[in-house]
Amino acid sequence: MKKRCDCGDTKQLHLRTVIYARKVNITRVPVYSCSGCGSSEVYTGVKDDIGKLIGQLGAKPVPRTIPFDQVNELAGVLSLALAAGEDSLRERDVAQAAEQRTNDLLDLWLIAASLGDEQWKSELQGRLSQLRVPYIS
Ligand SMILES: [Zn+2]
Repeated sequence: MKKRCDCGDTKQLHLRTVIYARKVNITRVPVYSCSGCGSSEVYTGVKDDIGKLIGQLGAKPVPRTIPFDQVNELAGVLSLALAAGEDSLRERDVAQAAEQRTNDLLDLWLIAASLGDEQWKSELQGRLSQLRVPYIS
């Protein structure tokens, strides 16, 4: 998955480790980076969630590693697509992984609904809403 950079070169989507406050390693964050000028930007679909996560960590976080693809569905999908493809992300693999994950979550939601488990239902709805953002940007 590619995006045009301001410098005229092409930005490629990769999963990278972001280090917050020199203490917390947030691994597998989708980031567009340009090999031409070296600039990078966080993938639009996860920007809000990264912001929320950093807000929760606060100014003086405890050193640790957070696998972002475990806490964010979209990053999880990109992670799956990367495992299916080669070294860079392909739209076809991402679309396929997103559909698969959505179906899995909907299956779980049906189980939660039939059990009348409201807490589980709302947790799954939260996860599904992370997938609803356009994943091609
Ligand atoms: Zn550039």
